[in-house]
Amino acid sequence: MADASTDLLVVGAGAVGLALARKAAMDGRDVILVEANESFGMETSSRNSEVIHAGIYYQKDSLKAQLCVKGAHALYAFCESRGITTRNYGKLIVATDQEQCHRLEDLKAKGEVNQVPGLEILSGKALAEKEPDLKAEAALYSPLTGVIDSHGYMAQLEGEAENNGATIAYQSRFKSAVKTASGYDVIIDGQGEEMVLSCRHIINAAGHGSFAVSKGIDAIDQASIPPHYMAKGQYFTTTKKPPFSHLIYPVPSGGGLGIHLTLDVQGGARFGPDIQWVDAVDYTVNPNDRGKFHQLVSSYWPDLDEQDLVPAWAGIRPKIYADGSVFQDFTIQEQQDHGAEGVVALYAIDSPGLTSSLVLADYVLGLESLS
Ligand SMILES: Cc1cc2nc3c(=O)[nH]c(=O)nc-3n(C[C@H](O)[C@H](O)[C@H](O)COP(=O)(O)OP(=O)(O)OC[C@H]3O[C@@H](n4cnc5c(N)ncnc54)[C@H](O)[C@@H]3O)c2cc1C
Repeated sequence: MADASTDLLVVGAGAVGLALARKAAMDGRDVILVEANESFGMETSSRNSEVIHAGIYYQKDSLKAQLCVKGAHALYAFCESRGITTRNYGKLIVATDQEQCHRLEDLKAKGEVNQVPGLEILSGKALAEKEPDLKAEAALYSPLTGVIDSHGYMAQLEGEAENNGATIAYQSRFKSAVKTASGYDVIIDGQGEEMVLSCRHIINAAGHGSFAVSKGIDAIDQASIPPHYMAKGQYFTTTKKPPFSHLIYPVPSGGGLGIHLTLDVQGGARFGPDIQWVDAVDYTVNPNDRGKFHQLVSSYWPDLDEQDLVPAWAGIRPKIYADGSVFQDFTIQEQQDHGAEGVVALYAIDSPGLTSSLVLADYVLGLESLS
């Protein structure tokens, strides 16, 4: 990419940056999307459960609650109209003892406040009819939950962004930005070769890189940049055909949703993610964790043998609080938060960021700072 100028620079081509670039281009804005990797979605956006969440878990009125529920409907509709595969399997959050049964009622109430449709508590017979091989006392059934072909989704976003006039530059790393009279002069590192990009607005959607990107913008009050924590989540798969036709989740505990069983769009099972705090990005999966996964999964799938589990992949949740609670909100900062005119910074876009990506893009592009 030679020196260039644009109205809007988006940093990061994960699901969120792609959705932003697409929407901005469709709105007629002049937009350039820069991505450090050689292709889109090579970090968190391709290292997750690919679940279209219904919005059960999130605090009332939080951004996660608002954007997830709307986002799930928008994502199903988007994929259906473009022939991208989704499978609306439905989800069962399973209680294996009496204490957990009470917590299902709380989750149902929380989901209903968030306007998640169709939630239903299933006990005994009804559950056995749906999933005869599942060991559980009761379950909360969420019919809206499903899975998506996330690669196909991102490829579609990339195509629509470009078809509407966005420029996408891969192997182009945002280094720093200096405030000018009309916006910013941004230094982009294209494989060792630097170029200057002049823009009026910047959206920082760089995932784990968003902290460093904000540090590189001279007009941002450095004290406004939150601390960066990383919560790694590993996955195992199995070659054994799962006897289930729904996504199976435990009752959440300990800061994550719990090691769940999801089905991919072809029906194959994967288990995860666990949660481990790490200091550096490292996507390896420790085969010695097989026993831990087996212990947790066999509480609801007793017929699974430990040898059936195969190490698969890992993703890393971007967090700004060290306790890692799943209930913490997306953090979106604009001028009044960090002092830099025309800049919006997205931090801690962990789950349900994939589900929310289309409506998150609408929300961000509607912010005052970008007008
Ligand atoms: C284990 C796990 C499971 C999850 N499961 C689900 C789920 O089932 N459903 C769901 O809805 N969500 C889920 N999520 C959350 C979802 O994956 C994320 O919210 C979403 O992928 C975030 O997308 P993003 O575009 O913000 O970030 P990313 O995908 O990380 O994209 C950021 C991009 O910025 C680029 N970048 C970084 N620094 C620079 C720079 N200086 N210059 C240029 N480019 C840069 C990176 O290379 C990267 O491509 C999960 C997340 C994890 C970790």
